[in-house]
Amino acid sequence: MASVFLTKSHLSYILKAMCFIKIFAKSGYPGNQGNKKQRCTGHNTAKTVLVCITPLMALLLVTVCTRPQSSVIREETTVQAAVDQNNKTDYNDRLQAVLRSAEIPQNMAAVILNSESAFLPDLSVVLESSDPYLRLLVDKQDPLVPQNYIPSDLVELTDEGAFLIGRTGLLLRYPAAVALEEMAEAAQEKGINLVASSTYRSYDYQIEVYNRNVRQSGQAVADRESARPGYSQHQLGLVVDFGSISDDYAKTPAGRWLAENAGHYGWSLSFPDGYEDITGYRWECWHYRYVGKKLARFIDIWFGGIQQYALRFIHEWELFD
Ligand SMILES: [Zn+2]
Repeated sequence: MASVFLTKSHLSYILKAMCFIKIFAKSGYPGNQGNKKQRCTGHNTAKTVLVCITPLMALLLVTVCTRPQSSVIREETTVQAAVDQNNKTDYNDRLQAVLRSAEIPQNMAAVILNSESAFLPDLSVVLESSDPYLRLLVDKQDPLVPQNYIPSDLVELTDEGAFLIGRTGLLLRYPAAVALEEMAEAAQEKGINLVASSTYRSYDYQIEVYNRNVRQSGQAVADRESARPGYSQHQLGLVVDFGSISDDYAKTPAGRWLAENAGHYGWSLSFPDGYEDITGYRWECWHYRYVGKKLARFIDIWFGGIQQYALRFIHEWELFD
């Protein structure tokens, strides 16, 4: 929208123009020279001059008054564009650096970089989540802090709802328990019963299990098959191991249904087939982590459903500052 922008120099232009018109009008208006006819002729001449000059003056004023405004707009636009460009460059630099440090595969990183304007808002949505534990990276290199962390909202699961339980005493964080119920209801509608077999594992329980594994199979096998105490996703209280806790579970209707649908309910397969190098764990078709619907969608859209890539990326992104 054009607006008038007056400076002192413009006002002086206007005043000078007004004086000029006034003087010119006066000189052409021989008011004291007596003759009425002459007076009329003089008056007409001044009027004609005024009529001719006024549009010219108006044009001059518009030209003079709008020129600085245009250049101010141009300058402001240029400054804003430079700021935008800087922000964009900063974000682009950060994105490239984080994709590298998170070791995101090149083809996946290229898609993200090419779709930066769609990716960054999706990332913001995930980062704005009020529960940082949903996106917390916990793997064989990254333990919980403190290592003996205990969630504050654990609830005991019962089989009164839509899912079954493998044994009594299973604990899960409240939001995950609610999400499990929602998912189990959907599965039930398809004639499928989900069975929660293993959920929250305390730090002390992990020490017990790990030491037993080391005694029975040696440390190398124990490290491969299980997590060291403080390094298990189960300690988050956001994980459910379903059914038989074996590879065969993938072939069951429940295993197939979960692989297909868990993401819609905010659950994500933590250790997919063929990604042991990335996750540190061999395939576990039964182990699902509740990450929330937004993060589950983010993992599927941008990281090909590989939770570890997304959590590693978020971890590195938050460390960047
Ligand atoms: Zn598990």
